[in-house]
This record gives sequence, C-alpha cells and structure tokens, in this order.
Amino acid sequence: MMTGAEPEGAAARPTRLRLTGSCHCGNLELTFETTRDPGELTVRACGCSFCRRHAGRTIPDPKGRVEFAIHDPALLSRYSFGLGTAQFLVCRTCGVYVGAVMADDGSAYAIININALQTPEVLAKAAVPVSYDHESATGRRTRRRALWTPATVV
Ligand SMILES: [Zn+2]
Repeated sequence: MMTGAEPEGAAARPTRLRLTGSCHCGNLELTFETTRDPGELTVRACGCSFCRRHAGRTIPDPKGRVEFAIHDPALLSRYSFGLGTAQFLVCRTCGVYVGAVMADDGSAYAIININALQTPEVLAKAAVPVSYDHESATGRRTRRRALWTPATVV
C-alpha cells in the first residue's frame, strides 16, 4: 500500500526538505526530513560486508528526522550482524534494504539508504567511502548517537 506519496516534496517546502522512499514492493516506506540543503549532505558508501553487497549509500543528518512505516511487520527482516548494535531493515518480499536503526535508551537513530528514495537524483553526487571496522561497540554507538538521524519506526 502506498500512502502519503508526494511527487515532489522537495520543491514544495523550501525550508524543510522532505524525501520519501520505499522498498520495491512498497511494504516498507520511509520519510526523511532535513533542514539542510541537499548539496550540504554527505553521501556515504559504507564498506562493510553488508553495505558492499547492497551498494548502500547513506546520508546521516543528526538534525533531521526519519520515519519508517512498516505495513506488514511479518514481511520485515530486522537483520543484525557483527557487533549487533543496529538492525538493518530489509523487505522479505522484494529484498530491498531501506535503512538501519539503532535503538538507544528509548530513542532510535537511523540512516537511510538513498537508493530507496523516490528521487535519489536530489543527492546525485559521488559517495564518500567509509569504513567503521575498527570501532568498538561503545565507539560505534557514540558515533551513531552524534551523527545518525533521530528516527521512529511505525
Ligand atoms: Zn518490499
């Protein structure tokens, strides 16, 4: 089910950019809001063994907002690996990876995979390769708390 689909949320509200996306079949939807110019957002390509396989590209914004809307929770895979500090949201039906969420003391922080956006061309720029393999679990959580985007999963 596709709800709240706005063709060009970016153009309508100049002070608050709103981007929507979904997995391929539409079971997982996401909304990303930022007050920053998309030109200022750094696109990152994580080199971990999961992101490399999905060619994931992400944009963290600690002052933004992310909402993931799950239509059928039974068809959501919350995949976790390595240090187990985040859950990677993957649709069981169509296989698309839409983003990752870290639960943190009643709050949640997320990144989105911009490949799942309806208008990824808004962020058409070269992704900066990053590697976090050296991090401890504590260091990883601290970085995400500071840099990831406050999120809700509904
Ligand atoms: Zn899907």
